[in-house]
Amino acid sequence: MIRPVHRKTRLWNGLLLLTIAVSASITHAENQKRVALDEVTFDSAYDNGSMGQVAQRSADRFLIPLYEEQGELGPRRYWFRFRLFGPLDQTVTLDLEHIENPRPFIREDSAPWRRMTSDEAPDLETVVVRLLGENRPIELAFFEPLGVDETAATVNQLTEAFPTMVTQEPLGETDDGQPVTLFTITDPTTPLESKRRIWIHSRAHAGEVTSTHTLLGILDRLMEDSPQGHTLRSQLIVHVVPLLNPDGVRRGHTRWDAVGRDPESQWCAIASPAAQAIKAKVDALMSEDVSISLALNLHSTKGTYADTFFFKHLTPSVSPAFELIQQRYIDALANRSPLFENRNPEGSQLHACRFIESYFWNSWGEDVMALTHEGHFHRRLTDNAWITGEDYRSLGRSMASALADFYDLTPANEHSWEDWQAEHFDALERRFQSLSGPLADPDGDNLANILEYGQATHPRRPDSTATPMKIGDSLSFARSPTAADATWYIEHSSDLVSWQAISPTGWETLPTEHPEIETVTVPYPQEPGINFLRLRVELNKDR
Ligand SMILES: [Zn+2]
Repeated sequence: MIRPVHRKTRLWNGLLLLTIAVSASITHAENQKRVALDEVTFDSAYDNGSMGQVAQRSADRFLIPLYEEQGELGPRRYWFRFRLFGPLDQTVTLDLEHIENPRPFIREDSAPWRRMTSDEAPDLETVVVRLLGENRPIELAFFEPLGVDETAATVNQLTEAFPTMVTQEPLGETDDGQPVTLFTITDPTTPLESKRRIWIHSRAHAGEVTSTHTLLGILDRLMEDSPQGHTLRSQLIVHVVPLLNPDGVRRGHTRWDAVGRDPESQWCAIASPAAQAIKAKVDALMSEDVSISLALNLHSTKGTYADTFFFKHLTPSVSPAFELIQQRYIDALANRSPLFENRNPEGSQLHACRFIESYFWNSWGEDVMALTHEGHFHRRLTDNAWITGEDYRSLGRSMASALADFYDLTPANEHSWEDWQAEHFDALERRFQSLSGPLADPDGDNLANILEYGQATHPRRPDSTATPMKIGDSLSFARSPTAADATWYIEHSSDLVSWQAISPTGWETLPTEHPEIETVTVPYPQEPGINFLRLRVELNKDR
C-alpha cells in the first residue's frame, strides 16, 4: 500500500533554515548527524553511523550522498549507515549515492539485518522503504554492520560460554581514547609447551566489516562445545584483536583512523597508536618460549569477486618454502569451507616494510606464516546469492578448523556426515532420504541416522541407550568426538512447542574406553517451568 501524499511541500526557505539549525548539532564528525526534513528524520549520529548531506528532492524522495573521508593516502568512501523515522506507512524513495553498488542491508526496528529485496532496491542506488512510525527506526547500511559496541557485545556473549578460557587486555589507546582490545583464548589446563600461538586481527580498515564477521566466526568455533572446539582450545593460544581501528569504526569511516592515517600500511614508520600497540604486543609474544607461528590479517575488498581470497606472498620477496607454507593454510581452508575455493588466488611481492606481514617476514622469516585475507560484499560462490554476515561467520569457523589441519591437530579418525553415510549405505541407498537421510531410522530403534552418527551407534542395528540421562543434578549423554560436523544442543521447553537451548557453560567431557565415544555431563538447567528436555544434533556446513 502506498500512502497518498497529503502533507509536504514546505518551501525551500524552510528547508534551508532547518538544515542550518541541524548543522549546529552535529556530533563529533561531520558524517554523524541528525537531520529532519518535513516529517522524516535521518540519523547517523551514533556508533558506526555515516551519511553525507541529505537533500529533499520531492515530497517523498531524498538524496543521500556518501560521506567522503580524507586521509594521508587520499579520500575514500563507500561505508554508509543511518536510520530514518517518520509517519507510519509513509513510503519514501532514497537515492543513495552508492558508488560500489552491492544491494544494501536493512534492519526494521528490532528485526535482524537482511539484504534488501529487489523490490526494495530495484537498481541498487534507489531504495524504497515504508516508514514504521516515530519511534521505530528503519536502518540502512552498506553491509551487515558491526559497530564498536555491537562487536564488543557479541564477543562478550561468545566468550561467556567458557570464561576461564578467555582473557581480555587493553593494548593501548587510540587518538579518540578508545582501547585497542586483545582477547586471548586458550584452555589454561593444558600444558603451554605443546601449544601453538596464533595472532589474528580484523578491521584495520574501518568499513571492511566482513573481516570482523569472519573473526567472530573464528571465535564461534573456539568457543564451541564440540570436539573441534575442544581440540583448538587445548592445543592453541589464539590472540584476537577484533577491531584494530576502533576510531574509524565508531566514526563510521570507510578506511582511515580518526586523523586520516592508515593503520594497515604503517609498518615502515609507525605513527598510528593502534599499530604501535599491536607491534609492542607482537614483539612481547615473539620473545615468549612459544612464539607466534601463524598470523591472519583480515580485510574486505570492494571489487566484484566470485570468491574471497588471500594475498599469498611470492618469491623472490619470500622463500619458495614460505610459498608452500602459505599454500598449506590456503588449501586447508578450501577443504573445510564450501564458501572458499581459492578461485581467485592473488599473489603479491611482499613490500619491504609496509605491512605487518613484512615485519613478520623481516624479523622471523619462515617461522611465522602471515597472510592477509580479503572478503567481499557481493555474491557467495555456493549459490550466487548475496553474501551475508552469517556467511562470513561460517567462513571464520572453517578458518579456525583449518588451523587444526595446518598444525596437524585433527584426529586421524575424524570423519564427516558424508563419510559416515558412505560407510553404511551404498550409492543407490544414498539416493533415498527415507533410508539414508539424517532423519531416517532404518533400524527402527527411534534413533534417527543423525543421532546414530553423532553417537557412533549403528544405523542398521537397533541400539538401546542414546538418550540423555538425569543423574543427580546432572544430565549425561554420549557422543562421538570424531563426528566432525556435528554440534550438540540440549534444549528445554514448557510446552513442547518453543524450545530454548541451554548454555554450554559447565559442560564436562570425559573420554571412555572407546575412542569413538565420550561422555558429556551437563548441569541440570535451573530455569523455572521446564517440563521437557531434548537433545538435538545439527550438522554444520562449515566443519
Ligand atoms: Zn583493508
